[in-house]
This record gives sequence, structure tokens and C-alpha cells, in this order.
Amino acid sequence: MEAARAPAARGMVWTDTLAHRAGELLRLGTGQPLARFRAGQEAAIRDLLSGPRRLLVVQRTGWGKSLVYFISAALLREAGGGPTLLVSPLLALMRNQVLAARRLGLRAAAIQAENRRAWSVVQGALAADTLDLLLVSPERLADPRFASQLFGSSGPGWSLLVVDEAHCISDWGHDFRPSYRLLAPLLASMSASNRLLATTATVNARVLEDLVALLGPGLQVRRGPVRRDNLSLQVLSMPRRPERMAWLAENLPKLPGSGIIYTLTIADADRLAAWLERCGLEVAAYTGRSGACRPELESRLMANRLKALVATSALGMGFDKPDLAWVIHFQRPPSLLTYYQQVGRAGRALEQGRGILLCGEEDDGICRHLVSRQGLDREWGEALLAMLSSAKGPVSLPALAGQLHVPPERVARWLGLLSTVEAPPVRRIGSNWVATGEVLRETFWSSMARRRRRRQQEWLDMQAYARLRQGHMRFLVGKIGGMGPREWLPGWLVRQRRPAVLPPLPPLEVVIDPARLQAAAEYLQPGAGTLDPIAAWPAGLASMSVVTVPGHYRARPGRVLLNAEDLEGWGTLLAAMAGRQAWPERLIVACRDLYLGWQPRPAPRWVTCMPSFRRSDRMPELAWRIAELLDLPFVEVLEQTHERPPPTPEAAASAARLASLRSSLRLMKTPPSTPVLLVDGLVYTGLSLAWAALLLQAGGSGPVWPMVLGRHPPWPSGPRARRHWDPALS
Ligand code: ADP
Ligand code: MG
Repeated sequence: MEAARAPAARGMVWTDTLAHRAGELLRLGTGQPLARFRAGQEAAIRDLLSGPRRLLVVQRTGWGKSLVYFISAALLREAGGGPTLLVSPLLALMRNQVLAARRLGLRAAAIQAENRRAWSVVQGALAADTLDLLLVSPERLADPRFASQLFGSSGPGWSLLVVDEAHCISDWGHDFRPSYRLLAPLLASMSASNRLLATTATVNARVLEDLVALLGPGLQVRRGPVRRDNLSLQVLSMPRRPERMAWLAENLPKLPGSGIIYTLTIADADRLAAWLERCGLEVAAYTGRSGACRPELESRLMANRLKALVATSALGMGFDKPDLAWVIHFQRPPSLLTYYQQVGRAGRALEQGRGILLCGEEDDGICRHLVSRQGLDREWGEALLAMLSSAKGPVSLPALAGQLHVPPERVARWLGLLSTVEAPPVRRIGSNWVATGEVLRETFWSSMARRRRRRQQEWLDMQAYARLRQGHMRFLVGKIGGMGPREWLPGWLVRQRRPAVLPPLPPLEVVIDPARLQAAAEYLQPGAGTLDPIAAWPAGLASMSVVTVPGHYRARPGRVLLNAEDLEGWGTLLAAMAGRQAWPERLIVACRDLYLGWQPRPAPRWVTCMPSFRRSDRMPELAWRIAELLDLPFVEVLEQTHERPPPTPEAAASAARLASLRSSLRLMKTPPSTPVLLVDGLVYTGLSLAWAALLLQAGGSGPVWPMVLGRHPPWPSGPRARRHWDPALS
């Protein structure tokens, strides 16, 4: 990164003329003729220009970080410097960024995976020096050829490198991007005279530690206030979901303006949104599954056409609605940093905003699960590396996932992690992976273990927050703003003045209408959602001496993922069940969510599935993928020896069906003696599950918890309807 032709732009002297020009650019950029710099904006630009510096700006979303780098880029260019390179992870926002930069007269363009055809034009403009600002995704920079074009001797001679959303560098951050790690060699090769600006909205001491390590020893930190005096925080404890649902239905209409309700799981977001809608509120769910609808949902909230979005953390980085009145958490997030970031969206441009944390009994189970899935376990990592080293050539991701019996996304995450360490032991070739022969250092594993312990600590901090009766903001500031035990930033930290303090909003109370509570409880437990165990066998079988199922051989009350109406929207699921397609990923995730919300006790220690003659390899695959997500072993113990006729409306619960079950279903080995999750596809009466539960428990297993994908649609009546019945789905 050699700025050979731009000596004038090095170490510029901050003059009144420059300050005046910066103000003009601000007014151009905001489109507001009376715009003034916000606290810290001009100072950041000055710091960056008047000395070749490495600067980290930590300021809340919506503060105006983009203008800091746009204005700096323009001033540097006007002084004869080279163009600015902006690394940003938000593809969706790149277009907006390009448009915003053009308002300042910057000639800006983006290079990312989605506009491949424009790359050569952009590169031509760079070569001709007719581009002022180039936006790239971190993934693009990972391509060595591309990086050498940008930074080689024939590169454009950048005058400023900007790393936006820089917390993504840290796997401590809430939005870690492994590809951000690939910036490390680039940053290390930059000379001290090159300007670097990193920006982010949220860091805690540990993320900051990572950033300092990566962005260089000379990093200056400019940090806005962590404290938000116009945010009234409180915690309300309502352990059971129906209580919180009823409370929200009562209280949302009383809250001013619109807001966000955060949930931990997609299933919770979907269910809560559906419930609130039913209570007459204008809300919508916003999750990783909302896909292409996301911009539409965001703009409805922006325009106050929704009372609330019920969202998972998918509604995150880059979302800024200055007049958002409140943020409510339906469940406790896994860390204070996540909480601070999410609750901080409330009341930015209002006199007062509200943040309410509702805690549930299910929170710990979900968080424990989230924490346990961070990073890479040594056992898995070594298995993966051994597999790659012994392979003859490059191996594809699906092949690795298949051999490890782990979902491909998870393997992809591990590979991402392994390929971004120093001297990476794996390397990508096209869409395949090879071992590089480098040995992973011991420090990698110890850092993995350390990180996991830290995550646990963050979780404990969050629990402590939830127990506070007062002083919530003070606690947050202490944990996030504090530099921790190692005060290694003396004097670097520049804090801004606090705004005037307003009296806090009166706290809300836990008052729940009993009728509403009852309605919520019923809503959560629809008939289709639970599966009652069969307590008596169908009568009329001569060889059966007892007709009731002995209690200790009965299945426990189970759960059904989809009711008959839901099933209609799951064409892919039905195709998968018929063995024609792979199980859709969202289905596996939905099963996990169902389980996490259920939390059966005594908790299953292993997973098994109902066997089936026809779709013999489909059920085990589904069950092991669910098991994998739950970190439980999958053990196949049941076997079907010959094909059974599909159930018919007449015979489904009949003695004849029981007889056919008895003759075709058996244990192929002794089951583990602990509680088990029994996975099945569609059920009608649950008779086969009941029989399987008896076999398992008679064979020595612990309690059996059935979890099934769906209930059969009600039997179509009449001979005509019967013909539409697809036996492949039964
Ligand atoms: P950030 O990146 O910090 O989240 P942005 O740079 O996207 O924030 O800016 C958010 C909005 O604030 C933009 O619409 C921008 O034009 C506006 N803005 C930034 N600085 C000012 C200012 N000093 N006065 C008025 N509006 C500003
Ligand atoms: Mg931004």
C-alpha cells in the first residue's frame, strides 16, 4: 500500500479552510443545509488527516460513522491523495453506501460477489484514477490475486483504508466473520504512514483487545459514551412463556410508538408474532427465515406501519430507526454486549426510550446450547484435520460433512476458523478443501477453551444483570465501558460529554389478566402441538393379556412439530419424507427449536428414530441431524423386519395393526439405559410410537420422549377422497 504520488496528503495540517470544507461536505452528505457535526465527528476526521494515524471510532449506530470516512476520503482526494478503500461486511448496505458517498461528489463503486460483471469496469476506473472510493467485502480481499491487484506495486496507492463494522474481526464480537481475520496480513504489511480507520458501534474490553492486536500497536481509540441517560431499563421476571405472552398482549397497546421484541429462537419469534397478531396487534416476525421479505418488514417498521417486529438477532447490524420507542426482550440474550447492542436501538432520537428484559425459565437451556456450540472442539477439529490429511486430493464440504455426520454449515464454520489462523492447516481450492501440512499449534486449542470459558462468563454477567433491581445502566456501563482488569489504554480513550439527564420513565408492572393468561396457555399448547401417550391397546387381540399399557412402558407426552395446516406449506418436507429430496435445513432447525422450547425432564441423553421399511435411510438421517444440533449421540436400535401395509382409516388403531407392528418391529440391540428422544415422521394414532416405546423400555432404555414432524391431516372421508391419499407419505 504505497501512496507514492500523494505526499501532500500525508500528515495534513488541520486549517480553518479544511474545517470549512469539511462542514460543506457534511451538508452535502446529509442533504441538510443547517447540519452541524455531531460530538466527535469533526475530531475523528481531524485525527485521521492531520497525522498518519490508525484510529478506531466506537460510536453507536446512527451516529454518523460513514460521514467520517466519506468526508475524510473527499478531503484526502482534494489534497491530491489516492482513493479510499472501504471494507464492509454488509452487502445489503453497500448500495446505500455507494449512493450516500456519491452525494458528496465521491466517485464510488463496490466490488462484491453479486456484481461480478462490473468488476472489470471498476478495475479500469481504478487504473485510470477515476475512482475515489472502492467498497469491497472482506471475502473478496481473501482472494490473493485480487488483493495483489489492489495492493501490489501497480495498485492505486490508497490514501485511506477503512474497516467498517470492525468488531466482526473479533470472534468475541457478536457478529464474528472469519474472513475478517484475513485482513490481518494486509494490515501487518501496511506501513506506519498509511491511514487506517476502523469503525464499530459496540465493543467490550475483550473485543477491543482483539482489535488492538490486529489493527496495530499505534491504534488510537475514540469512543462515544456507553452510558445512555435517555434509556429507562428494567427487568420483569415472568418465568413461563404464557405469562410473558399475556403481558405483552396487554401492555404493547399502552406503549407509545413502535418497537422491537427480541426472542432467542426462530420458533419463539414466529409463535409470539402469531399470538400478538391474534390479539389484534400489528406485528410481524423477522428472522433468518424471513429471507427476501426482510427489507419490506424493515421499511414497515421504519414507517411506523407496525407496532413491532418480533425478531431474532437477525435484525441487527446496520438497522437504525432513530425514533424507535422501546425494545423488549422476550428472553435473556447470551451476553451483555448483545443485550446492550439490541436494547440500544431504543430511543436514539427521542427524549426517552425504554428497554425491558423479560426473563424466562427456558433462557438458560437455550443459552447453554448456544454457548456449547461456539468455536471448535478439539475432538472434532482433529477428526476433520485427519480426514483432510489422509485424503488423496481436495475434498468437498458435503463429503466432509457426510463423513463426520455433521451438518455442512457447521463444518464450513470450522473450516473458516481453521483457515484464518496463522499458518492455516487447511486451504480452500475452488469449492474443495485440502490439508496444507501445517500443524495446528497448541495455542489454538487453548485459545478455543479460553474463549468458551469467557462466553460462559458473559452469560453469568447477563444472569447477574437479570437479577438486578436497580442500577441497570450503571451495571452495563461498568461491564462494557470498563476496560476490565488490564488498564492498557491510559489516555487513549477519549470520552465525550454526557447529555443532560432526564427523569426515567416510570417502570412497568407485572399485572396479568387471568383470562388472557389462560388464552395464551391454550394458544401455546394446541392439540396439534402435543402427543398424548397411548394408555390402552386396541381391544380384540386374543394373544394380548393386558389391554392397558403399563405406565412404565408408556411413552412420555411427546411433541409434534407441525399441525395439519402447517404441513401444507411444507412441500419440500413431504418430498423429503418420500425419499425424493434431502431434509430441508429449516426443518432441522425447527426441530431443534421445538426441543429447546420443550425441555423434557428427565432430559433425553440420546436420540433414536422409528425405522421404516420404505424410506429406510431417511428417518435415521433426520434423527442424526437433530441429534447433532442437540449435541446428543444418535443410536439406531429399532428395526423393521418387513414391510407393513400403510395404515388405513379403518385399521389405523385396530388390533390388526397392532398385530402387524408386533410382528415387524424389533430391537436390533440393547438400547442405552438413559432417557431417549424418539424421532418419527408423520403420525396418525401414535400406535407405532406406543409400541416402540414399550419395546425400548422393556429392552432397558430410560423414559421415551417422542418427537414427530407432523400429524396426518384428518382422514379424508369417502372413497373419492381416499384416492388422493398418497401412501408414500404415510
Ligand atoms: P453509523 O454508520 O454511525 O451507524 P451513518 O453514517 O449511517 O451512521 O449515519 C446515520 C444517519 O445520520 C445518516 O442518514 C447520516 O446522513 C446522518 N448524519 C450523520 N452525521 C450527521 C450530522 N452531523 N448531522 C445530521 N445528520 C447526520
Ligand atoms: Mg455504519
